[in-house]
Amino acid sequence: MNVQTQTIETIRASFLPIAAKCPGSMHDFGEVSIRQDAGVVTAGGSAAHEVCREIVRTADRPEDLSPYVEKHGCDPDHLGRATWYALEFWREHRGAFPDPQTELALEADLPGGMRLTGHVDLHSIYADIESRPLDWKAGYRTDVDCEAQLRGYSFLSCQHFGTEKASATVVWLADQTYQTWEWTWDELREWAADLVKRIQEWDGKYTVGDHCRYCPRFFGCPAQKMIVQTTVEDLAMMDSRPGEIQPGRLAELYPAVQSVERLCEAFRDTLRATVAANGPIPVPDGKQLALIPSNRESIDAQIGWPVLAQHLSQNELAPCVKIRKTELLKAVADKAPRGQKGKVKTALMDELHDAGAVSTKVTNSLRVVRRETQ
Ligand code: SF4
Repeated sequence: MNVQTQTIETIRASFLPIAAKCPGSMHDFGEVSIRQDAGVVTAGGSAAHEVCREIVRTADRPEDLSPYVEKHGCDPDHLGRATWYALEFWREHRGAFPDPQTELALEADLPGGMRLTGHVDLHSIYADIESRPLDWKAGYRTDVDCEAQLRGYSFLSCQHFGTEKASATVVWLADQTYQTWEWTWDELREWAADLVKRIQEWDGKYTVGDHCRYCPRFFGCPAQKMIVQTTVEDLAMMDSRPGEIQPGRLAELYPAVQSVERLCEAFRDTLRATVAANGPIPVPDGKQLALIPSNRESIDAQIGWPVLAQHLSQNELAPCVKIRKTELLKAVADKAPRGQKGKVKTALMDELHDAGAVSTKVTNSLRVVRRETQ
């Protein structure tokens, strides 16, 4: 049975990985959600894309990345590593992307009266017959399949430029790998027709999975609400008989508990923003919910050093000082000549290791990973 829903007119290519897995995500829930958009583009992602644009334009990486770090407030190490690989990739493969265009906005007609829109990071037409879209991904490779997004870009390009086939590439900057797919225009048309059919003839069932973490409709999604309800009930039951739960059941509950945590975080953000904007909110028993400032003093090392040196010897001062590795490596890299930054950082770490100044603390985090095969 098909569900009668509102007319969907436009779909963004960046949303295709979710829409292809869960056509229900394209439909209006008709409910108010706590937060409408989960903020898909991170600060590091924006900075990396800006630097990649420069790499394609100049065939080199900007010497100083600090303006990008400051502008986007991102981690300098991550940006450095990600864009180093972008430069390596571009140096090796730029011949495959003649006359590259960056940030190309495209729109195309889909079957069934729908429209597809997309912003291609890098685009080229090869030998007049082949579209070559490329997407830079600043983060680590995830289980969420981005093939659908690349199919979308290929469809957009083939329809717009009249090309016969497409070769689409995604570059995983953090993992320092890339992947390429090839499709003919006929294959892309068939895929688009099937996708539109699944969206327009949606059977009312939501498909829950890893992709939900990236779904902007997460808050307000009826399937997620159901999961939250049953998970909270399961957790309450667990509290009354903690020793009886099987390890397998605990592991099964974990993804659902992560969904509940995400919802709680969104609730806390919303509440904090509401109190910040409107002031304290009265609650029962003559109390109110308010933002209470707490002050933590910090000492500026550069200004305070001469004062501290009058009171403490180097040995006495050392236990009070914590050296931040990222800032330390950035400081030595900033002093190093161009092309030597990586080498200088590695040499310093080697020296510190040899001197016995480096210790490693192992932290274990809960993650769902593939089982090792025997
Ligand atoms: S959160 Fe998951 S199940 Fe819900 S609409 Fe999004 S993709 Fe579908």
